[in-house]
Amino acid sequence: MQDIFKYIDEHLNDSIASLTELCKLPAVSAQKQAIGETAEHVVGMMRPLGFETQILPKTGGPDTAQPVVFAELRGKSPKTLLFYDHYDVQPPEPLELWTSPPFQPTLRDGKLYGRGVSDNKGNIAARVAAIKAWREVRGELPCSLKFCIEGDEEIGSPHMEEFVEEHRELLAADACLWEGGGVTWEGLPMVTLGVKGLLYVELTCETINRDAHSSYGTVLPNAAWRLVWALSTVKSPDERIQIAGFYDGVRPPTPEERAAIEAMPQEDAETLKSFGIGKALAGVTGVDYIARHLFEPTATIDGLSSGYEGEGPKTVLPARAMAKMDFRLVPDQDPDDILAKLRRHLDSHGFADIELKTLGGERPARTPVTDPLVAVMREAIRDAYGSEPFIVPAMAGTGPLYPFVAILGLPTADCGIGYPDAHIHAPDENIRIEDFLRGTKAIAALIGRFGK
Ligand SMILES: [Zn+2]
Repeated sequence: MQDIFKYIDEHLNDSIASLTELCKLPAVSAQKQAIGETAEHVVGMMRPLGFETQILPKTGGPDTAQPVVFAELRGKSPKTLLFYDHYDVQPPEPLELWTSPPFQPTLRDGKLYGRGVSDNKGNIAARVAAIKAWREVRGELPCSLKFCIEGDEEIGSPHMEEFVEEHRELLAADACLWEGGGVTWEGLPMVTLGVKGLLYVELTCETINRDAHSSYGTVLPNAAWRLVWALSTVKSPDERIQIAGFYDGVRPPTPEERAAIEAMPQEDAETLKSFGIGKALAGVTGVDYIARHLFEPTATIDGLSSGYEGEGPKTVLPARAMAKMDFRLVPDQDPDDILAKLRRHLDSHGFADIELKTLGGERPARTPVTDPLVAVMREAIRDAYGSEPFIVPAMAGTGPLYPFVAILGLPTADCGIGYPDAHIHAPDENIRIEDFLRGTKAIAALIGRFGK
């Protein structure tokens, strides 16, 4: 691999320049910005490497979804590695908290700052750089490669299941390399094997036909109170979610998954410190902290609004209150089932008047720690980093992994260019150039090992 690694080292500036160009395109899916031109730009990165490309519409519902970039290149071996990535990014707001403009990627102190440099355009650029090195140094690729790069991962990948179902043959492969991934706080590489699912809902409560003078607090129902009471039944202060049957589908970790997390670095103190607190929820530390973070579902109030929220007092009795909530789900919880259980929970607690609107749902998925892909990933990481990766059975976040695992039947794993302080989804998103370089080499090594 040394010849290929050398090429990657010598062409680092070109790879960073290519990433910079990609990140100048403000492909914010939530705001439907620059989507078409970014898809075209990605196609323009693939074609010179010899990829056959297509921009495919995503169908399956009344709401519009952004197109998917598909690319394919045959190698020596018919064994096929499918890369999943996304070319869309999160909104850059609040803009005033960025040190340099989000869509003008800027190098500072060995880091590249800009929206998307880590999540997920940095991984696209690293994968392209690794393939370019193979093509330039050796010509033919040792295995066949496919890319499936979607344009609305950041808004919950609508219709991804239908898309995968519809394009089963096109997407057929032997394994899938997932987006994301990277190193620990200490810079040690990780391989992640699964994702949590998600149910996102909006709860609305309307009690009277207009806001009232708060003196009516004696006789008129207050929407803010009703919503707060309803929310308080969902989770108790001991952090247990109180919806009947909520935990029914939760699959306990296997002995191998448990062993994997026992080998993981314990960085809870570092994480808590970065958030300015000393103690985690439920007082967990060490392996229990990791187990809770990776294997437990959540119920999170993401936003609450009602009544007067401006400066100074306003004595008002709100007619309307709204909350946004997400539930991170673990195998084998199902978002539709959890939604039905939440509805039943609210009804049975006297809150039938609270309206529920679904804003998104994704199913959880996990690849077993014992899958042969994991062994190949270990070797590739060793080639690139000179050290063993930590095997992370699942990440705490969500992605549209389920159709790739369940419909295409693929083992999936990720390794990437990120690190814990990358500020993804936040101002000053960044990558460390050293992580980009090593992450690129890991992909190159994987391509080499996967063909064998
Ligand atoms: Zn993201």
